[in-house]
Amino acid sequence: MNAQKLSKRLEKVASFVPQNAIVADIGSDHAYLPCYLVLNNLVTSAIAGEVVKGPYESACHEVQKEGLQEKITVRLADGLQAIEQDDHVTAITIAGMGGPLIASILEKDVDRLISVKRLILQPNIHAVAIREWAVRRNWKIIEEEIVKEDDKIYEILVLEKGEESLSEQQLLLGPVLMQQQNAVFKEKWNREIQQWQHVLTALEKAEQTDDIIKKTQELQQRIEMVKEVL
Ligand code: SAM
Repeated sequence: MNAQKLSKRLEKVASFVPQNAIVADIGSDHAYLPCYLVLNNLVTSAIAGEVVKGPYESACHEVQKEGLQEKITVRLADGLQAIEQDDHVTAITIAGMGGPLIASILEKDVDRLISVKRLILQPNIHAVAIREWAVRRNWKIIEEEIVKEDDKIYEILVLEKGEESLSEQQLLLGPVLMQQQNAVFKEKWNREIQQWQHVLTALEKAEQTDDIIKKTQELQQRIEMVKEVL
């Protein structure tokens, strides 16, 4: 992967960034995504935010190598603190982290989202944490995608401002993905069910304390909930 050729996962994230957006990529190790967006004239300008020094330096190096310093600002900052009101950021991408971490980054500086019209989020795991955050903070899921790359399955969530209430099933599986039910979606949830069933087998062998019984019931309910949809 490089700034010219993104991974399938990041290419999909890029495809949801609106034309001429001012985009901030948070957790921008190497800054491949903002470089790609600017090199292809897809956005007006970009900010690459990184909290760790090593990846921040890699991002600075990549932006310089591509000669994009005029269009991309790289900032060493925690989460949304990489963006200022004067940046007038209209879209944010956060990719390659767990869902709970992405949700906590958004929640921590929620006031910095005022000018932002679209969030494009790619959790590696536990997308449910982002959907719960979205409902709580009045962001609506307008699109979802699921892609498989190198045997790993990734969900991509696209949010815009708006109210929405989601059922427990929709929070876990994704309202759009649930409707589409493509082959990758089925593979992901069949894999999950298999893993949960392994856990259930282990729980059956354990001493049946109140905690173990509760956990077993929760898992059985979750498996049934997912099976209903597949
Ligand atoms: N976004 C790239 C991608 O999808 O390929 C890089 C993903 S990498 C696994 C996650 C990056 O997010 C790391 O470079 C990490 O340092 C950065 N990160 C984690 N927490 C962060 C935070 N609170 N603020 C900014 N960057 C963060």
